[in-house]
Amino acid sequence: MSKDLNFESWGRYPRVSHIGELTPASISSVSESVASVDASILPRGLGRSYGDSCLNDGGYLLSSISLDRFHGFDPLTGILRCESGVSLDEILKVFVPKGWFLPVTPGTKFVTVGGAIANDVHGKNHHKVGSFGNHVKAFELERSDGTRMVCSEDSNPDWFRATVGGLGLTGIILWAEIYLKAVKGPFIDMESLKFESLDEFYQITGESEADFEYTVSWLDCFSVRDGVRGIFMRGNHSDRVEVKRSKAVHSSPGSLTFPFDAPSFLLSPPTIKAFNYLYYSKQRDKVSISSVHYDPFFYPLDKVNNWNRMYGKRGFLQWQCVVPLLDEGKAISSIIEKINRSGQWSFLVVLKEFGEVVPKGMLSFPMPGITLALDFPNVGESLFSLLDELDTIVVEAGGRLYPAKDARMSSSTFMSSFSHYEDFLEYIDPRFSSSFIRRVGGGNV
Ligand SMILES: Cc1cc2nc3c(=O)[nH]c(=O)nc-3n(C[C@H](O)[C@H](O)[C@H](O)COP(=O)(O)OP(=O)(O)OC[C@H]3O[C@@H](n4cnc5c(N)ncnc54)[C@H](O)[C@@H]3O)c2cc1C
Repeated sequence: MSKDLNFESWGRYPRVSHIGELTPASISSVSESVASVDASILPRGLGRSYGDSCLNDGGYLLSSISLDRFHGFDPLTGILRCESGVSLDEILKVFVPKGWFLPVTPGTKFVTVGGAIANDVHGKNHHKVGSFGNHVKAFELERSDGTRMVCSEDSNPDWFRATVGGLGLTGIILWAEIYLKAVKGPFIDMESLKFESLDEFYQITGESEADFEYTVSWLDCFSVRDGVRGIFMRGNHSDRVEVKRSKAVHSSPGSLTFPFDAPSFLLSPPTIKAFNYLYYSKQRDKVSISSVHYDPFFYPLDKVNNWNRMYGKRGFLQWQCVVPLLDEGKAISSIIEKINRSGQWSFLVVLKEFGEVVPKGMLSFPMPGITLALDFPNVGESLFSLLDELDTIVVEAGGRLYPAKDARMSSSTFMSSFSHYEDFLEYIDPRFSSSFIRRVGGGNV
């Protein structure tokens, strides 16, 4: 059992204290670890969730770090079977050279397969293929009483639906089978298009949906008076295979590290404005076409270890919503307007259109519409009241917030936007809990 009791989430807010961390050495010792303690337990992957969904204040974390074995791969179907603590980083390192890629990947590769299922993570190809759970064939779930069950759409399908996007509350996933995707090589044919308004963004995203597997936009809401501008990135896996002349490679943890808790001036409005200006101006032409390695395309932030320390000791809050597009983008415009007027600043703003593929999980976050994500330095009360106002816009527009990124939404916001929560309750393991679910779960947990 680990003695470091102050585990952080990626946003480093909230600060909570655990009794300890259980680290079973293998799948066969999970039940013994769970039985060895009395207090509540929460599975933990690599702690890349931003808020408190990977924290369990006053209880234990159950680490999947040693559940790291590959069990087998079928090159005819692309089905990989591995333990839940295997990271997407490890899968890429082993399988890209063999011509296989992840079916869905979030913006960091340092997440585990268990974490990717439990948050039903999405990526830049959501508009084409849905979220991670859409590519999971099966997994084995272990409950705190030692019961084990294989779950798929045919076998224990209700448990499958509860566990995909189930925030680690239904039990611990021991192993999973996922469908990998065949690719020719490690490169992406990429186009970057500058846009100067939200209308232009909507036009480009509409035009890109059919022909581009990956789309995402970086947004600058802070340098243009009463407006936005940004860069729309879209791409497809390339037929290019040679790697000799390419400088880009799969980046490993440890190559660059953010060395200290930064002082607050580092992310002050002038520096963010200057960064946005430089980033937007770096691309001279309206359209730029290139062939890039998958690593900088999908994981630009992974280059710097602990970049979250850039926000200083108080940490930061990520806020990510999705809203249906039925209102012609009015909700997204009002959210951006409100942020602009508030005087709060976000270093990174990302905008993307989600597609129609129906997610598998009862509590899955994605729905058809536009998703907007922002990182805010934690400046306290003024930020929290702004975010409450943004939540109201989201709920009124029929949208929801992403639990993997959340540290403060109210119980009523959660309940009113996750309509299957009542059904989900019966699948929660009586010994499993999290800081997040105790905060938003309405006293039922
Ligand atoms: C830079 C960055 C970019 C990101 N980009 C995206 C993105 O584009 N899209 C997106 O969807 N997310 C994104 N995320 C969020 C991240 O993908 C998710 O939070 C992911 O679930 C983290 O996985 P993890 O292994 O670190 O799990 P943790 O954060 O440790 O845990 C996440 C949840 O999974 C549960 N869990 C973990 N292991 C198991 C298991 N074996 N069995 C059952 N439950 C388990 C935990 O209890 C917890 O509820 C990003 C995060 C970062 C830091």
